[in-house]
Amino acid sequence: MAKAIFAPFADQWGPEKIIHIYEPRLPMRAIVVIDNTALGPAIGGIRMAPDLTTEEVFRLARTMTWKNAAAGLPHGGGKAGILADPGLPLAEKERLMRTLARAMADLTEYIPGPDMGTDEVCMAFIYDENRRAAGRPKVTGGIPLDELGATGFGLSVAAEQLAGHLGMSLVGARMAIQGFGNVGKAAAKFLEKSGAVLVAASDSAGAIYNPHGLNVGRLLALKEQGGKVTDYTDADAIPADAIFSLPCDILIPAARPDVINLGNAPQIQAKMILQGANIPIALEAERFLHERGVLTLPDFIVNAGGVITTATEYRHGSTAAAFAAIAEKIRENCQAVLRLVREKNLFPREAALELAQNRVREGMSYRRRF
Ligand code: NAD
Repeated sequence: MAKAIFAPFADQWGPEKIIHIYEPRLPMRAIVVIDNTALGPAIGGIRMAPDLTTEEVFRLARTMTWKNAAAGLPHGGGKAGILADPGLPLAEKERLMRTLARAMADLTEYIPGPDMGTDEVCMAFIYDENRRAAGRPKVTGGIPLDELGATGFGLSVAAEQLAGHLGMSLVGARMAIQGFGNVGKAAAKFLEKSGAVLVAASDSAGAIYNPHGLNVGRLLALKEQGGKVTDYTDADAIPADAIFSLPCDILIPAARPDVINLGNAPQIQAKMILQGANIPIALEAERFLHERGVLTLPDFIVNAGGVITTATEYRHGSTAAAFAAIAEKIRENCQAVLRLVREKNLFPREAALELAQNRVREGMSYRRRF
C-alpha cells in the first residue's frame, strides 16, 4: 500500500511533500509538490493548466531542485499546479489564486512564483494573502522578469559559452525558435545583439521561415499588438513541426515539454540546442543528440535566469543585481559542465546533475536525521 502511494516518485532526494488541495465550493483542484528543502525554502512557479498531473508537477518540482542548486541559490525545489483553464476571466483566476494561497498559508517552506498560465498579477493576490510570493508587480517590490527578458538573457549567456566550446561564432549564426513567448522573444532579442540571425519562429498558431533572416524588431512589435508570427509578411508559412528540421545553427525550444523526441531528433541540423522551456527534450533524444554531436546543456542550467531573478527579488535585490547574477552564474555553470564533458567525457545532463546533486547532498548532510 505504502509503495502504491509513494512510488514512482520517492527516491533519495524527495519529494518531501505531495499535497492535493480540493475546495469543493469553487471548485478548485491543486497539486503542490515540495521536492527538497535541504538548501533552503523551496522556490518554484505555480502552473495553471486543465490537464496537469501529479507526475508533471513532481517532474517540474524536481527540475527546480536541480536548477536552484546548480545556480548556487539558497533554495530547494518545489512547484504547484492548479487544474484550470489559464484563459479564465481575471476575477475567477483571483478566486483560485486566493483560495490556493489560503490553503498554503502554513506551508512556509514554499515560495511560489509565476509559471505558464499565471503571472505577476496572480502573484500579487498570493502575496496579499500570505506575504510570501515572488515575481510580483513592481509596486509591490517585484522585478518584472518577463518584461525584462531575464530567462532569454540567460540563454544568450549560455549560447556564448556553447559557441566557444564548439569553436563557432554567434555572428551570422542562424537561429530557429519554437514558442515566440516571453522566453523565445527575449532570446531572439539578446542573441540578435550578439550577431545571430533569426530565420524561423513559431507560436501556437503556426510557424514561419525565411533563410535570409526575419526582422526581430518587427516580429516583436507584431506580437506586442496581439498578432501571431504567421501575420509577419516576408516569410514562408511552414508546418509547425518543420521548425525542428530546418537548416540552422541554434535551435531554441521555448514552449512545451518533450517536444524534441526520438521521432524528430534525427532530422535536427542545428549545432546547439538551447533549452528555453523546461524539459523540452525527452531524455533518450537528449542522449541520441549528444552521441550525434549536437551540443545541448540541460534546461536547469541554461534557463535559470527567471529563478535567479525571483530569488534576487525575494532578497530585495535590484534588477542590475539580478542580471549580474544571471550572467555570472550561467557563465560559470556552463563552463563547469563543459569542463566535465571534455575531461570526463560525461553526457552533459549527467555532468550537470553531478554538480547540482553534490550541493544538495552536502545540504542534506547538515539536516537532523531523527
Ligand atoms: P509564454 O506563454 O510567454 O510563451 C509560450 C509560447 O509558446 C507562446 O508564444 C505560445 O503561443 C507558444 N506555444 C505554445 N504551444 C506551442 C506549440 N505547440 N508550438 C509552438 N509554439 C507554442 O511562456 P514562457 O514564459 O515564454 O515559457 C515558455 C517555457 O519556458 C515554459 O516551458 C516555461 O516553463 C519555461 N520557462 C520559462 C521561464 C520564464 O522566465 N518565463 C523560465 C524558465 C523556463
